[in-house]
Amino acid sequence: MAEKIKYILDVEEVPKSWYNILPDLPGKLAPPLHPGTKEPITPDMLAPLFPMELIKQEMSQEGMIAIPEEVREHLIRIARPTPLYRASRLEKYLKTPAKIFYKREDVSFVGSHKANTAIAQAYYNKKEGIEKLSTETGAGQWGSALALACSMFDLKCEVFMVRASYDQKPHRKTIMKLYGAEVHASPSSVTEAGKKILSEDPKCTGSLGIAISEAIEVAAKDEKTHYSLGSVLNHVMLHQTVIGQEVLKQFEMADVKPDMMIGCVGGGSNFAGFTFPAIGQKLKGKLECEFIAVEPTAAPSITGVESGKSKFEYDFGDTAGMTPLLKMYTLGHKFIPSPIHAGGLRYHGMAPTVSHLANEGVVKAEAYEQLETFESAAIFTRTEGIIPAPESAHAIHSAIVHAKRAKEKNEEKVIVFNLSGHGLLDLGGYESVLKL
Ligand SMILES: *Cc1c(COP(=O)(O)O)cnc(C)c1O
Repeated sequence: MAEKIKYILDVEEVPKSWYNILPDLPGKLAPPLHPGTKEPITPDMLAPLFPMELIKQEMSQEGMIAIPEEVREHLIRIARPTPLYRASRLEKYLKTPAKIFYKREDVSFVGSHKANTAIAQAYYNKKEGIEKLSTETGAGQWGSALALACSMFDLKCEVFMVRASYDQKPHRKTIMKLYGAEVHASPSSVTEAGKKILSEDPKCTGSLGIAISEAIEVAAKDEKTHYSLGSVLNHVMLHQTVIGQEVLKQFEMADVKPDMMIGCVGGGSNFAGFTFPAIGQKLKGKLECEFIAVEPTAAPSITGVESGKSKFEYDFGDTAGMTPLLKMYTLGHKFIPSPIHAGGLRYHGMAPTVSHLANEGVVKAEAYEQLETFESAAIFTRTEGIIPAPESAHAIHSAIVHAKRAKEKNEEKVIVFNLSGHGLLDLGGYESVLKL
């Protein structure tokens, strides 16, 4: 009989709580520091930007945090639970004894995992009487996700989109506008931070760090506007753990134990959401598995440590130096990466939780060049039939590398990666890199 290729959960099996890794972390997570005093920040310092419920989650030591029913309902509406697929055609193509699986976060309405946290964030802001959310976006996936979430909760949405992507991916801007958001190319002339950069470099193609500075400035100036971040922070990692909890149930359905879980990392959220529930099990001695975070060589936050390009130290989350200082792997907050097509991976830092786990050796990191990731994406398209996001292509490439190694060693490894999004709006990138 042919092997099963799809593992689909019932709607009732969408998690009812988020998994909080903070109490399970080995060692102590370094606290965020106030940029001026260098003292640990207190909840009231974050209150101008975030609703209190999210600030509590940011620092919570509770192991499981209940998902509000309304949030869960919207998660179900936009595609949860998502399927786990067996990459049987890719396995055959590679002639590998490894079993390869992938979790499909590409099926959400906005084509990536990002709506998982956007919905939760919009919900808590709405509940506190906020009227508008401001944010930054790189490739446009986060902006689209937040614009969708704001439309669901009748909030206004203002998005600062990195100039390089704004020009490369005009359709993302259209999506955000269709959901009702206001979109600026960043650096823009609507904020002081943007104007300052433009006065120094009128042709600046932008960076996530700059766009964050602009979005924070807009929120700081208006009581009824809050800021929303699509990655990096603890509460974002938390919201994404619906992915990994579903995956653990799907492993049971498939009757497998993973040997290797792989995700691409920009700020770290899809990787965290996918792996943290399993990492929790590993930390409790219930699972033997490797966890691999994959970066582009153009923005090697974790892997750059060896060559001195990056450091594990306190740094700002944005370019202007307005955010709290976070202890993380960082390329430096002034870092402007080359405009690779995996826009979501062009961030200078890495989530403090993911950084901490990498520093403790629980998470391993790898980095790959743009061309090889696109070539692997094309193999995936031709075997599995899905056009992946250039970000997800990094996870796919790593899975292929490890499946080939398994073939050399004749090992029946179980390799699972997170397909964080689809690439149907990244065709320009495919055309230019693969010369199509
Ligand atoms: C944003 C994005 C990423 C990178 O962000 P993380 O916070 O590291 O997950 C990866 N894949 C896709 C499809 C994205 O949209």
